[in-house]
Amino acid sequence: MLRNFIRLSLFFVFLPAIATTAVGQESIVAVQTDMTVIVQGKQIVQIGKSDATPLPKTAIVVDGREKFLIPGLWDMHVHEIFGTWLPEDEKITPVLFVANGVTGVRDMGGDLEPLKKWRARIAEGKLLGPRMIISGPMLDGPVPQFPSSAPVKDAAEGRRIVDDLQKNGADFIKIQSLVPRDGYFAAADEAKKDAIVFAGHVPDKVRAMEASNAGQKSIEHLTGVFEGCSTVEDDLMAAPRGPGRGRFLSTYDPTRAKALIALFAKNQTWQVPTLYWERGEWLIEQTTAGPDPLEKYAPAAWRVRAWPMFTTGILKDWSTDPVADREKFFQAELKMVGEMKKAGVPILAGTDTAAGVRVYPGFSLHEELELLVQAGLTPMEALQAATINAGRYLGLVDTGTIEKGKRADLVLLDANPLADIKNTRKIQSVVLAGRYFSRADLDHLLAGVEAEAAKSK
Ligand SMILES: [Zn+2]
Repeated sequence: MLRNFIRLSLFFVFLPAIATTAVGQESIVAVQTDMTVIVQGKQIVQIGKSDATPLPKTAIVVDGREKFLIPGLWDMHVHEIFGTWLPEDEKITPVLFVANGVTGVRDMGGDLEPLKKWRARIAEGKLLGPRMIISGPMLDGPVPQFPSSAPVKDAAEGRRIVDDLQKNGADFIKIQSLVPRDGYFAAADEAKKDAIVFAGHVPDKVRAMEASNAGQKSIEHLTGVFEGCSTVEDDLMAAPRGPGRGRFLSTYDPTRAKALIALFAKNQTWQVPTLYWERGEWLIEQTTAGPDPLEKYAPAAWRVRAWPMFTTGILKDWSTDPVADREKFFQAELKMVGEMKKAGVPILAGTDTAAGVRVYPGFSLHEELELLVQAGLTPMEALQAATINAGRYLGLVDTGTIEKGKRADLVLLDANPLADIKNTRKIQSVVLAGRYFSRADLDHLLAGVEAEAAKSK
């Protein structure tokens, strides 16, 4: 049975032709107009020029004239079920992703068993939500700072936890900041033996250069990067991580920066800068000032408990520098991402939702795309950071582009995202694993989330 048919006057096809360059792989991308996409079951079964692609008689036709089709988006840094901080709520978090065109997520730390259940039910079509890639508990120090953590005391423990997670169905290993050096390098070695990806923070006691050389596949939040660019890297690594951003900038050495960026490009160490989360944290006073237009979608657990707790912690221990220093530091982060892009360091879009104050599932991904453009990516490159790059990073050949044989995860936009990246928010419809959601359907989903949030306690 043919279920959906989308006719379009203009859409993007990301053709993943691979050209090898000095810094790795580069994708060739094409924008195509007057195309027709035919979806059957969960797959794209045909694409072609509209005048040459006959309509199957049984097809449901979606008129895409004057509209713009992009691949379903990936948020590559999320936390969906995270102890009592972000308790399981299947009627809120996964629904908000889908309603915003996010059809895939990389969960960077959470409660493994309930996440596995979501992952399976979503794959079977029994739960509405984005496709999930999950790490389960994060490897952290002997005394973890967060829920959903696996404490690493030493090397043996690092190896054992990696083995356990690999056997228990984690898709990859997430590293947090307090993992000790011996535990980190042992976990890295074990992950290689187990053929499982490890990714996350550069731990406080490890240099960014060492993490890249150890094979860490992605670095989140630019952890360890500015330390690695400083003439006083060891001092910065020894100090508490939040404060002292003025010193990060005053000791910044362009030669060191160039060398570190070149190493990331050579090793293809992916960067997930989570810029929206970074800005929200460094400028926490602005983040929490004024009314929150999305508040109606936040369950009490975020709105009343987790986010006020995060705000207090950030103000007390993290964002304590003069606001001018923090503003400059965020600008330096944007510039850093732009320089990484120019040097061929691969970049992914991730938001850290809902583990950031007012960082909403789905909505935040569009904020991140906008900041990636501010950092110097073109709108096309920002889109790629949430589509084709996600597929490449994850080694999933069925996602990230609009091509025959790919999963039918699609977002139809009312306006051209290449003219203005903000247009990714103008969502006309979403296709999730072949299931079509009109604008009215998406609004209905959002109303459902609002009702759930209102009755949450
Ligand atoms: Zn995170």
